[in-house]
Amino acid sequence: MIQRCLLLTFTIFLLLSTIAHAEENVDIDQEKISLYKQMEAITLIPWYYLAAINRYESNINSDQSDENSLIRIKIPEQKWYGLTPANEPTAESVLEFFNGIGRDGDGDETADHTNEYDILYTMAHYLQQYGHSDQDIRTALWNYYHRELTVLSIMNYARLFKTYQKISLDETAFPIPKGYNYTYHNTWGDARGFGGRRIHEGTDIFAGYGTPVRATTFGVVELKGWNKFGGWRIGIRDIYNRYHYYAHLNGFTDGLEIGDIVEAGQAIGSVGSTGYGPPGTSGKFPPHLHYGMYKDNGKTEWSFDPYPHLKRWESKDP
Ligand SMILES: [Zn+2]
Repeated sequence: MIQRCLLLTFTIFLLLSTIAHAEENVDIDQEKISLYKQMEAITLIPWYYLAAINRYESNINSDQSDENSLIRIKIPEQKWYGLTPANEPTAESVLEFFNGIGRDGDGDETADHTNEYDILYTMAHYLQQYGHSDQDIRTALWNYYHRELTVLSIMNYARLFKTYQKISLDETAFPIPKGYNYTYHNTWGDARGFGGRRIHEGTDIFAGYGTPVRATTFGVVELKGWNKFGGWRIGIRDIYNRYHYYAHLNGFTDGLEIGDIVEAGQAIGSVGSTGYGPPGTSGKFPPHLHYGMYKDNGKTEWSFDPYPHLKRWESKDP
């Protein structure tokens, strides 16, 4: 009897913690957004830029154990402390004197590079010195990161957060809509002959000419056009520093341009057999969508196997 009671209690506990966890994510988003908006009130830096920087830094700092902290921006010590003799939390005025950017965000008179509020305020304060326009923030980000892809990613994340007024854009879709025939196998890493020795950086989904191709996640179109290997292809970056590459297309959806925001499930083009030659080359292999995924860690970008993702999205698709 006691055992059964314990089991029941445990089951209820599991059930409650599952529910609590689902609600927690929403709460954490709300908590983050309210923090960004507090900083916006003080510094006039629109909240979605702070959200975008935090999102980007969470992506590149994902190996660290502070998963529960709201702010995952890591400001390098040399930026925070400048030429301050000791790299220890200290008064703003000292850091300012030694050209450190560290500031005190929580009002404890100390600028501490491990304190979330101090970090977020320091970032907002840093941006503020350049101004509040899109172009000002772009310049500030360039001077901070010195990397084009980083600046582009953050600016695009900001646009996504501003457009949808939320920071979780996690809906997904299988690239081929329901009702169309297709087949695919795990072919990532296979050898490819054309254009020298390469490995196959993607999964091939075979389908008939003209079958619609959809964006698998929310994101921004980063590239569109011809490539001698990929034919007509399009590249979309999502808010997790992941680049989605769709190749050998017959054509693109009308009006879709570089810089456009796309939603998961939105049509972006159709299946074809273009590529393996100069612009317009087609029919050198059976029609299929080549779908590749790449991850940027803030320094380099590499291909990873999209097959497990495709399987998951396929089973989840309504
Ligand atoms: Zn392929």
